Amino acid sequence: SVVAEGILRRKSLQLHNKQEDWQESSEGQKMQEFRRSLPAYKERDALLDVISQNQVVVVSGETGCGKTTQLPQYILESEIDAARGAACNIICTQPRRISAMAVAERVAAERGEKLGESVGYKVRLEGMKGRDTRLLFCTTGILLRRLLVDRNLKGVTHVIVDEIHERGMNEDFLLIVLKELLPRRPELRLILMSATLNAELFSSYFGAAPMIHIPGFTYPVRSHFLENILEMTGHRLSPFNQIDNYGQEKMWKMQKQALRKRKSQITSAVEDALEAADFMEYSPRTQESLSCWIPDSIGFNLIELVLCHICRKERPGAILVFMTGWDDINSLKNQLQAHPLLGDPSKVLLLACHGSMASSEQRLIFDNPEDGIRKIVLATNMAETSITINDVVFVVDCGKAKETSYDALNNTPCLLPSWISKASARQRRGRAGRVQPGECYHLYPRCVYEAFADYQLPELLRTPLQSLCLQIKSLKLGSISEFLSSALQPPEPLSVQNAMEYLKIIGALDEDENLTVLGQNLSMLPVEPKLGKMLILGAIFNCLNPIMTVVAGLSVRDPFLMPFDKKDLAGSAKAQLSARDYSDHLALVRAYEGWKDAERHQSGCEYCWRNFLSAQTLKAMDSLRKQFFFLLKDTGLVDSMESCNAWSHDEHFIRAIICAGLFPGICSVVKKEKSMQLKTMEDGPVLLYSNSVNAQEPKIPYPWLVFNEKVKVNSVFLRDSTAVSDSVVLLFGGNVSRGGLDGHLKMLQGYLEFFMKPALAVTYLSLKRELEELIQN
Ligand code: ADP
Ligand code: MG
Repeated sequence: SVVAEGILRRKSLQLHNKQEDWQESSEGQKMQEFRRSLPAYKERDALLDVISQNQVVVVSGETGCGKTTQLPQYILESEIDAARGAACNIICTQPRRISAMAVAERVAAERGEKLGESVGYKVRLEGMKGRDTRLLFCTTGILLRRLLVDRNLKGVTHVIVDEIHERGMNEDFLLIVLKELLPRRPELRLILMSATLNAELFSSYFGAAPMIHIPGFTYPVRSHFLENILEMTGHRLSPFNQIDNYGQEKMWKMQKQALRKRKSQITSAVEDALEAADFMEYSPRTQESLSCWIPDSIGFNLIELVLCHICRKERPGAILVFMTGWDDINSLKNQLQAHPLLGDPSKVLLLACHGSMASSEQRLIFDNPEDGIRKIVLATNMAETSITINDVVFVVDCGKAKETSYDALNNTPCLLPSWISKASARQRRGRAGRVQPGECYHLYPRCVYEAFADYQLPELLRTPLQSLCLQIKSLKLGSISEFLSSALQPPEPLSVQNAMEYLKIIGALDEDENLTVLGQNLSMLPVEPKLGKMLILGAIFNCLNPIMTVVAGLSVRDPFLMPFDKKDLAGSAKAQLSARDYSDHLALVRAYEGWKDAERHQSGCEYCWRNFLSAQTLKAMDSLRKQFFFLLKDTGLVDSMESCNAWSHDEHFIRAIICAGLFPGICSVVKKEKSMQLKTMEDGPVLLYSNSVNAQEPKIPYPWLVFNEKVKVNSVFLRDSTAVSDSVVLLFGGNVSRGGLDGHLKMLQGYLEFFMKPALAVTYLSLKRELEELIQN
């Protein structure tokens, strides 16, 4: 150990000399000058002091003040200066791959090094880390997985958890694990960093840990809401915030009509503006109504309109556009590239900023373009806090973001765009004021902004617990309810209980809460367990194609559009697709297949028009299906498209698999003289949502409906449903492994008796007896 100490001392000395050489070089001095200009620098000594005195510290500061790139570096430098360089081991987590990589590259450059020397990174399937790497940037998921095999984080001296204000599932998850670890590692330092000012919450979670705020400076940014934007771009309309007032409303409608009449002027942008105006007229004003009302897409033409306006009329400065996801960014980029002004490379530099871009493209985002060229960056909400582009003066905010769902293995985003919070909107706006006063264009009316939630709900409280419980089990973190009760904001115990019971019913957990083989497979699929089960059964029973379509449809959103004023037409179009087979899910399959077919003949758009379908949703389903297939291939359940589709055209089979997935979402159909009554075991009588094909049917010639979702308004409504026969329920409903065959039969028998189908129960009993004999022999 004397030898080891000697080596350590020599290495520390080397690090020290190298650092000094760099700091004295002319390039190094330039870099030092820049670093000293950042607001974090003024707090350097105070930060280092508090960190050395306390096990946990919470640091907050305006985005761009130097938390991510500077603070870990301050720690590294001070350790090196104290000749402890070779003994320190700093880990800094980032919620996203791209920020882990970008930040590591930047910090290495600031230290005059290549990646993989003293600074490195590690993300899933990729990394740049050497034997002497002392500061490692990694994703939160990577650290979580390391904790599985190395419970005490042996050798690690500092853990820095960045961007905790985002309240991602992984970060909340990690905090639970670290909180439990700290007493066992008294010399380990934990630093939590956040952009916004809810530091108290984190501080009190760690027993009143000290908080340090880095004061920053940003220039004021002016907000323009949709109403101002329309006026600014020459679509003069009355003030919207007062349209509740009847006189105003009338005037507003007249103006809109007048605008529509000027046909010659109706460009695609005006169309979008008008659509936006309609949108405002119907737009809800409360948070509650907002949450169940999300427009289908962002108006690309509206974005185009705003970008043109800025390029023509406004002062120089880069534009940052916040979009929901990679798909949208790509389509918008294509559209803009065809535009005479925005697509002209001598005037506009159009860039995309997303999770998997190459680092050469990444650098362009940070570089200043040549004089006279305007930089436009299309980004996801990643640019909200993790990445700072200095020359941004204009921000365009679509008001939506894709909320990510928890998926430890793939980090696959959940597919629903939803409204952002007021805090996010403010954060987006702030990105415009880095170098001079800025402007922010919100593509939604002020009344919608007022209805936003103050903060986004933490992911832990908005993702279905069934998936989360499955993850905790697969990560072997012990008792689920105990684990979750120590979260920053724990979910309700009852919801945890319900989730566990549900997982047992579908066969993902056994009675002792152990993961079953099915459960293990489900935890690897980035969809709700019931949909995952459908996928797995679809693969096993060789009818994967239609089942992937059903699951994609149920996890994106309904591609069937029901416009307010054309409900009847839309309804009959859907009924036609369903071809009287009493299934919304089969209608979905036909709609998708019809669209694919039409696409091959370049008539996809027309097909969508005719059948009231959303092309955007169908496209999203298409890409999701591809992902499903690769994931199933990864798990070894399928090997080729051909081999798992032998039964894909057998409608009975598809129904059976849908039933297997949706059970216990089941209701009985009781025929009355002129009508029928629907009943579930938990709710009693229920009704069908008017969009369902089954709602139009006076009589359903099947004894059961299986459904995906029920909503309680005044009565309980079932959304999509599929009619199934007795034998399908007998053979595919529920989980045969629960409590052995016996338990399964008992449960089904209970169901059948409840629904007063004694004959069926008798069949069941005899089936059971036969099986028992069979087993005994
Ligand atoms: P914070 O984490 O507080 O939001 P950062 O540490 O990420 O701030 O960034 C501090 C500053 O460093 C930014 O304002 C920006 O000027 C600069 N910076 C960060 N990354 C890069 C980069 N890749 N290239 C050039 N400058 C960068
Ligand atoms: Mg940061």
